Amino acid sequence: MKKKAGSRRTPPPAVPARPGYGIETFLVHGRHHTKKWDYSHHLVPPISSSAAYRLGSAERGAQGFESFAREGLEPSKQHPIYIYDRLDEPVRGMLEESLAEAERGEFCATFATGMAAVSAALGTQLRSGDEVVAHRTLYGCSFSLFRNWYPRLGIKVKFVDLTREGVLKRALGPRTRAVYFESPANPTMELIDIGAVRGACEAHARRGRARPQIVIDNTFATPFCQRPLTLGADVVVHSLTKNLGGFGTDMGGAVVTRQEFATDLLLYRKDFGGVLAPKSAWPIFVYGLPTLPLRMRQQQESARRVADFLERHPRVKTVAYPGLPSFPWYGLARQQMTDYAGNFAPGSMIYFTVRGDANHVLNYAARQGYALTLAVSLGQVRTLIESPTLMTHAALPPEDQGTCGLERDGLRLSLGLESVSDILSDLEKALAHA
Ligand SMILES: *Cc1c(COP(=O)(O)O)cnc(C)c1O
Repeated sequence: MKKKAGSRRTPPPAVPARPGYGIETFLVHGRHHTKKWDYSHHLVPPISSSAAYRLGSAERGAQGFESFAREGLEPSKQHPIYIYDRLDEPVRGMLEESLAEAERGEFCATFATGMAAVSAALGTQLRSGDEVVAHRTLYGCSFSLFRNWYPRLGIKVKFVDLTREGVLKRALGPRTRAVYFESPANPTMELIDIGAVRGACEAHARRGRARPQIVIDNTFATPFCQRPLTLGADVVVHSLTKNLGGFGTDMGGAVVTRQEFATDLLLYRKDFGGVLAPKSAWPIFVYGLPTLPLRMRQQQESARRVADFLERHPRVKTVAYPGLPSFPWYGLARQQMTDYAGNFAPGSMIYFTVRGDANHVLNYAARQGYALTLAVSLGQVRTLIESPTLMTHAALPPEDQGTCGLERDGLRLSLGLESVSDILSDLEKALAHA
């Protein structure tokens, strides 16, 4: 699948945000006159903090329960009857409207964390006896969910290399309900051709099987750099803790998909309980989304400069960044990763391996670094560096780390908003210690 790019798909019909206005304006203003908005004189929504809501009458209370998550109800056209925070809540509701639009999807449900979103996106699709085909390189906790918990539920997960042509076709079986991957993959930056995955799933369906649902974790790219629903994916998941929140103050997760999955997602969230706290939805809605394009453009520009610098550095063995012409999936990156204006958008994440001791690089960052910080997580205003094998992907046993393409001397870098010359200067000094 490396060479042949999948066909481009027409975006699913999204409710027009505000005809005539661009997405960046939309991310600042949201729906503006949304039915979710309960505060007619506020420019900025208050941080809502109410576990339960006053119900005007017994009938209204009953109607609220009766209409919650009901199929056929279009939430954007209804005044919700707020009852209890775990069901629905205004700030979270507005954030969901904006996120759905940002991903060009029809429906969004937010969750307490990215992992709660991953669990819900798959939990609503899978039953025991089903099978998931997953790319072998995944964020450590997603890998652990598949490896340690799904077998207990009788769900089989087949880990394969989805970057290779023909592999998915052979992996799909009669019980395959979902195909799951990240693109770019955390942390190796491997890309998977979303259109080609869709093509293989449709070919599978033509052989008389159910078409597997394509679930992609779009956290690394963010919707600013890639909108998988327009490329053939069925469900997009996000960790809002990363670039969508953008400031590293709050945790959150989101699932964006078609309206047909809305009822299941809302009922799942109500019963499993992993709702996004309104106090956490608020900064993501008020600070994160409106500044996403601005931050991504700046971080991406820094990432390009840093990737160039690393590629020429004698202490660096390999650099994986989708914006480098040497990147193995560069052609696919140019097709799949574009910003809202159609410009190439290779993102703000880099994976590289060093000659020498990677721990020395990290320890320099930890002790003397200023524009470079040793910490996990990503997508913040600070430039963060970490070791996947020792930290974010430590849940993978060493033999799995090997098959995932993770190396002991590999480092993951998330570009922040510092001046790029300062980032380069700290990196130069850190690499001298490798
Ligand atoms: C961080 C991350 C997650 C998990 O998100 P949390 O908000 O930490 O639960 C999932 N997928 C990817 C790619 C991530 O980077």
